[in-house]
Amino acid sequence: MLNAIITERARREFARAMQFENGGAPQLHPGDSQKLPLLYIHIPFCEKLCPYCSFHRVLFERTLCRDYFSALRKEITLYKKAGYRFSGIYVGGGTPTVMIEELEDTLALAGECFPIREISVETNPDHLTDRNIAVLKKAGVNRLSVGIQSFDDRLLRDMDRYEKYGSGEVIARRLSPVLGNFDTLNADMIFNFPSQNMQNLERDIDVLMSLGVDQITYYPLMISDSTRQVLREKFGQIDYRKEEQFYHRIAERLLPAYRLSSAWCFSKKEAMIDEYIVDYDEYAGIGSGSIGYLNGTCYANTFHIREYISRIDHDEMPIAAVRTFLLRDQMRYDFLMKLFGTKLDVRDFRTKYRGIFYRVLWPSILAFSLAGSLTYRAPCFHLTKQGRYTWVIMMREFFIAVNNFRDFFRAGQ
Ligand code: SF4
Repeated sequence: MLNAIITERARREFARAMQFENGGAPQLHPGDSQKLPLLYIHIPFCEKLCPYCSFHRVLFERTLCRDYFSALRKEITLYKKAGYRFSGIYVGGGTPTVMIEELEDTLALAGECFPIREISVETNPDHLTDRNIAVLKKAGVNRLSVGIQSFDDRLLRDMDRYEKYGSGEVIARRLSPVLGNFDTLNADMIFNFPSQNMQNLERDIDVLMSLGVDQITYYPLMISDSTRQVLREKFGQIDYRKEEQFYHRIAERLLPAYRLSSAWCFSKKEAMIDEYIVDYDEYAGIGSGSIGYLNGTCYANTFHIREYISRIDHDEMPIAAVRTFLLRDQMRYDFLMKLFGTKLDVRDFRTKYRGIFYRVLWPSILAFSLAGSLTYRAPCFHLTKQGRYTWVIMMREFFIAVNNFRDFFRAGQ
């Protein structure tokens, strides 16, 4: 009952927050925050498309992809000319390693332009070749995140991934030799796919434990409303009661050996956090469909790939939608993200927001404390065991709102 209320409220709240204004370039200018922002780079190409995926992705075309990478490099220089500096890079997709030499050149350029200290790249199991690993290591990649979802062959077939990436056994065999090549090797997994059950979840965790990967990110199924319809017709309704059982079981199995670095990310050591939105207060988004958040302004680049390339060719920022948040909304966004990382330091908040904390956040703190989601140990608020799942719900709804926004914008372009 309580979870259903949280879901409903979060859904309404995030749908409201994702109402952007069309077009126009925001007044982006380098801020004065203590920590340098992150540079998010989006590569929207995939060799084959998975039916449940709500990300911004299109089928790989070699020439278009090459032009796209050139445009990305030019966009990097536009940010440099505007005076931005970044300390970290996250390359997401799509499939970022779809043209490895282009990625290599792009990372090299970003390294020349900015004081980059950490690089995280996403990939798929069939791209774990010796050559790709060597290129990524040489490019300075610290964290490699591999989209696995499950090792269960039936589930992989349901997700349309068996033919593309091989059986669970093949995927595990590809993953194993990559361990030790990067500071962090992350396995992206999924829970609450409609045809998943507790037995195949337990077997997936057995495989992960025996592999001993540095980090495991267990995402709940987060699909846009339009994809939900497709899945419902094929596999039936998504059951959120099952989601809670799955989550608690995952935490029970993984927590002795791993620690929580976000509500759904389990790390063995001081690994880099999977969600850069936890680690970085601000990020620029480059590439088609990227979303950035700088100086309280959230913006999205055009989802139309050829338009993106053409606007960059004309030295234009390819921004298609903008929303500037009031201070109150910026604080609520920060509250959500910091607690997604399991704790919020009240002193840091006060420093960042000129002493303001309870005056704006007391309703949220009161509501989540009464619901048993938060506990205070000076100087931080922490998620309780129940609170971790509450934050899974909140973040699931946050990303569903982002996915709906993507669908809405793609449809209009
Ligand atoms: S799940 Fe990954 S590989 Fe599949 S279409 Fe989406 S981005 Fe591409």
